[in-house]
Amino acid sequence: MAQLALLGGDKAVQMSSRDMFRWPIITEEDEQAVLEVLRRGAMSSTDVTKKFEQEFAEWQGAQFALGFCNGTASLHAAMYGCGVGVGDEIICPSITYWASALPCLSLGATVVFADIDPFTLCLDPNDLEHRITRRTKAIVVVHYLGYPADMDAIMAIARRRGVKVIEDVSHAQGGLYKGRKVGTIGDVGAMSLMTGKSFAIGEGGMLVTNDRALYERALTLGHYERYTPDLETEALRPFAGLPVGGYKYRMHQLSSAMGRVQLKYYDSRCEEIRRAMNTFWDSLEGVPGIRAHRVDPASGSNMAGWYAAHGHYVPEELGGLSLTRFAEAVRAEGGICSPGVNMALHKHPLLNSCDIYGHGKPTRLANTDRDVRQVEGSLPVSERINYRAFYLPWFKKFYPEIIEEHANAYRKVCENYRDLLAEDKGDPVMMGRAGTTTRG
Ligand SMILES: *Cc1c(COP(=O)(O)O)cnc(C)c1O
Repeated sequence: MAQLALLGGDKAVQMSSRDMFRWPIITEEDEQAVLEVLRRGAMSSTDVTKKFEQEFAEWQGAQFALGFCNGTASLHAAMYGCGVGVGDEIICPSITYWASALPCLSLGATVVFADIDPFTLCLDPNDLEHRITRRTKAIVVVHYLGYPADMDAIMAIARRRGVKVIEDVSHAQGGLYKGRKVGTIGDVGAMSLMTGKSFAIGEGGMLVTNDRALYERALTLGHYERYTPDLETEALRPFAGLPVGGYKYRMHQLSSAMGRVQLKYYDSRCEEIRRAMNTFWDSLEGVPGIRAHRVDPASGSNMAGWYAAHGHYVPEELGGLSLTRFAEAVRAEGGICSPGVNMALHKHPLLNSCDIYGHGKPTRLANTDRDVRQVEGSLPVSERINYRAFYLPWFKKFYPEIIEEHANAYRKVCENYRDLLAEDKGDPVMMGRAGTTTRG
């Protein structure tokens, strides 16, 4: 048995990772596109952005695409486009980034959290329908860490109950669910294109939909210069040209210029990522203590750009070894491992006690006559998932020798877990990330 590096042995990862983790991939073509906008002084125009939107819509297979300054703004506008307003509720998984849920608060609405499925890490359709009330306007679905959510089951419930579905595609741009591109299976897709995401253009967001009325309403929130009197939705016409929402959400053209170049290569780069990630997991198939978070390709689904790749941790198979100690041992091998995913939002003080706008009560309860707060223990999977999932190397290149070394780091720790039990101090009470999902 090899000695673990944490206990004085040699490291499993010896090779340099070269450009394995560099992302996004920037070439002279990106640089030239950005320089062209800079030299022309067209940073605040919309000519490049409109071309980007057109190409994006075509690639997405959507009728409409609308660029935003970031993903948060695109989600805000998607909610507004769905008619979310004062007194309304949205349903959102508890395990996600803040922006999947919080923009509803500034619309005067509130959020009810649903649990996630312990394997997919996406909204659990079995924990959805009983949360729908007459106030529910929209369900936000997150294709978490690239895994496409169970859209068939979710759409069936949403259609039956007359509730809109917003897909937060920030982790899964270009991904497939049973052969269909995520983002336009629901009523509207909204996504971040910021630098940490798999579709990375600096700061930016995109909204996609096939629903003209939804698109036009979403546009009025923060795109005053495109809010023209010729909109088809008559009710919107009286305030044309005005920033009705009080927001300004236009995409920066240094980002849209880069986006046009990135789009050309995005699918093939994602394919290389998936090849690399699948090679890593194929190599670890059957190793006790860890499981891949990935789809069966025979289903016609895929993991898109495998955003912030994570794995499942099964401590029962490793004598109850804490995830914290496990991750420490993998890192000592030169590997990449960090415990947890996002924090469960339903337990956070921001959603339970914080009075953001001065209503004299928690903002989550500002416009509702029922207490929608969810106590500890109410979403058991979300509350435990940070002890059972971990960030791992998110390979961008197919370099089999380097991938094998990283797989070896995991294999070595899983096979020698007994050596780690004696000095295991356990996991801390607080696990998970309050900020971004990305590490590494
Ligand atoms: C990153 C992210 C967002 C927010 O996008 P920004 O571009 O950072 O505003 C929204 N939802 C999810 C799931 C994200 O990961």
